[in-house]
Amino acid sequence: MALIVQKFGGSSVADASKMLQVARRVAKNRKEGNDVVVVVSAPGDTTDDLIAMAKEITDEPDDREMDVLLATGEQQASALLAIALKSLDCDAISFTGPQVGIVTDDVHTKARIVKVGDSKIRGALKLGKVVIVAGFQGVNKDQEITTLGRGGSDLTAVAIAAALHADVCEFYKDVDGVFTANPNIVKNARKLDAISYDEMLEMASAGAQVLNARSVEFAKNFGIKIHVRPTFNEKEGTIVMQETRAMEKVVISGVTYNKDEAKVTVRGVPDRPGVASILFSKLANAGLNVDMIIQNIGEKGHSDVSFTVNRGELKKTMKVVTDAAKTLKPAGVISDENIAKVSVVGVGMKSHSGVAARMFQALAEKGVNILMISTSEIKISVVINEKDVAKAVTAIHDKFKLGKKAANERG
Ligand code: ASP
Ligand code: MG
Repeated sequence: MALIVQKFGGSSVADASKMLQVARRVAKNRKEGNDVVVVVSAPGDTTDDLIAMAKEITDEPDDREMDVLLATGEQQASALLAIALKSLDCDAISFTGPQVGIVTDDVHTKARIVKVGDSKIRGALKLGKVVIVAGFQGVNKDQEITTLGRGGSDLTAVAIAAALHADVCEFYKDVDGVFTANPNIVKNARKLDAISYDEMLEMASAGAQVLNARSVEFAKNFGIKIHVRPTFNEKEGTIVMQETRAMEKVVISGVTYNKDEAKVTVRGVPDRPGVASILFSKLANAGLNVDMIIQNIGEKGHSDVSFTVNRGELKKTMKVVTDAAKTLKPAGVISDENIAKVSVVGVGMKSHSGVAARMFQALAEKGVNILMISTSEIKISVVINEKDVAKAVTAIHDKFKLGKKAANERG
């Protein structure tokens, strides 16, 4: 008998028949004698629809009220799943995030979890119930509802798994697992049996939609084993776990892309100490996450600074930059929304050289222009024009022979 946390994404609970299918699966796990805690996302496109409703009213809806609004999506899913389980004679109870004591900081729309209570959940498990928790939400110390950022239900699931010392945290998806590239773009993309936390982390932050980056970080810190598996069949998916020797033999695990970023260039700022500090402190103080940064040293004591931010935060970013411009007096500020980031990820990069060269060669052969480059120990990312994404990802995937027939299997 195990204690399992199961997380179902929005597409797995999008309508009544899917909800019942999920309920049957959960009920089966419960019947086998496991203690089961389920975390759900909002059904289908609920969150997007709610955001759209607010944006119909104003371009910049109030963050606190957005949390109150968005939290309703997950609450719907959790109650509906409890209803479905009970209709199958499987005792269940749904709770909101605040009810189970998911305490967060005060940052509305992107709150961080500071504490997770376990007594409410343990109490209900003891009574033999399946416990369903609404993902993505918590409560701050002033009893205000908060949400954890897009995709935050993953984080709820891992945090609960950690608090309960669960045996495994299963993520049910409408895909079979983690792939070498998005199978919708790359026809011969291959499912990975296992991947390290670090690779998954890089892939998630590089745009792979499978898991939310913060949840992987959390899982890594608490040693929570994650199993990414398909909702609508019983196949084994991908295990996300501690790195093993065998993993290092594979140079590249996957190619990902992210179309959610926008590029901002501040042209002609004075090339002297403190300039970057002023600009990026202001962005940080506004709670804006900056991803890539490059600086070109230009002529006559001036330089250009380019960076990328979340596309949805471009407006807010431009406001902050405009404000900073009062001090920095740049020659100009430009932004570009039609960009995308393409990344290759693999722990094997630590011990193999020439990865960047191979990636750039793949892009050159297809005439794809590189706008920005950044690297980490196990990832190389480039920013390119958005229209080139499919071409770039496929070319890189081919270049590293990641496809199904490749001899690049984990050894
Ligand atoms: N419903 C939220 C979103 O769409 C949270 C989640 O799905 O995890 O971002
Ligand atoms: Mg969702």
